[in-house]
Amino acid sequence: MTQIDTLPPLRAVIANHGLSARKSLGQNFLLDLNLTAKIARHVGDLSQSDVLEIGPGPGGLTRGLLSEGARRVLAIEKDSRCIPALEEIAAAYDGRLTVIEGDALEVDPLTHLQKPIQIAANLPYNIGTELLVRWLTPPEWPPFWDSLTLMFQREVAERIVAKPGSKAYGRLALLAQWRSDAAIVLNLPPEAFTPPPKVSSAVVHIKALEKPRFEADAKTLERVVAKAFNQRRKMLRAALKGLAPDLEDRLLAAGIKPTDRAEVIGLEQFCALARAIKAP
Ligand code: SAM
Repeated sequence: MTQIDTLPPLRAVIANHGLSARKSLGQNFLLDLNLTAKIARHVGDLSQSDVLEIGPGPGGLTRGLLSEGARRVLAIEKDSRCIPALEEIAAAYDGRLTVIEGDALEVDPLTHLQKPIQIAANLPYNIGTELLVRWLTPPEWPPFWDSLTLMFQREVAERIVAKPGSKAYGRLALLAQWRSDAAIVLNLPPEAFTPPPKVSSAVVHIKALEKPRFEADAKTLERVVAKAFNQRRKMLRAALKGLAPDLEDRLLAAGIKPTDRAEVIGLEQFCALARAIKAP
């Protein structure tokens, strides 16, 4: 195993700082620095980027990002016990790491970062999907980030990259694929983490496109998709009831049979439906 930096191994960091994992904070740590460096390489060209990292914990992925050459890393961590360990990394990497103690759902990272910005995280599972949906639905497109490289439970990762007709296909797939390219780049078994979680995990890489794949008003598309999959077993004429008085005509105008179910409708058709619903 190659040494990625001169800091102590993560097991020693955890012992020195008393960082016993807390379930309430979704703490499943990656302790293999070769693995975290490998994840960092999936982020892309780090030397020209600032990286926002959510939930650095004892700093395994943070060290991977820095050793792979990130221009700057801003790490937001809620657990105050981790801050001294992270400050040791900041000292070893010449001010390229800034650590903020806080809740990633509340801290505004933008004042601390310069574009291009990549986001990388082994996310706390309890807030992972919420953060992802926020990043995929910003007020304007293109968003403030160029790419997201995120660890999820395998089942969530599959929902992000799913195609029509599969069980995993739904709102997350449509939100992710409308304006980005999304792919699973790494699968990890539970034993890759300390302590091991109950389920397998996967790293998803999402790259923002300059423009949406198909034209649609973002709010209308989000509303249509949320309603369609809220009752995914129902025919669309029932699931989307109340969205427009002449709903069946608008479905037909978008090339969709009113008797179809949401799970067989592709992105292009959902965008056509959003346009038909928005039309006067
Ligand atoms: N990145 C580290 C690694 O890969 O070993 C730790 C990953 S662990 C799955 C999730 C981390 O997110 C923990 O360090 C936890 O304390 C932190 N965390 C949990 N909720 C958070 C929140 N709302 N804001 C910021 N960090 C949070």
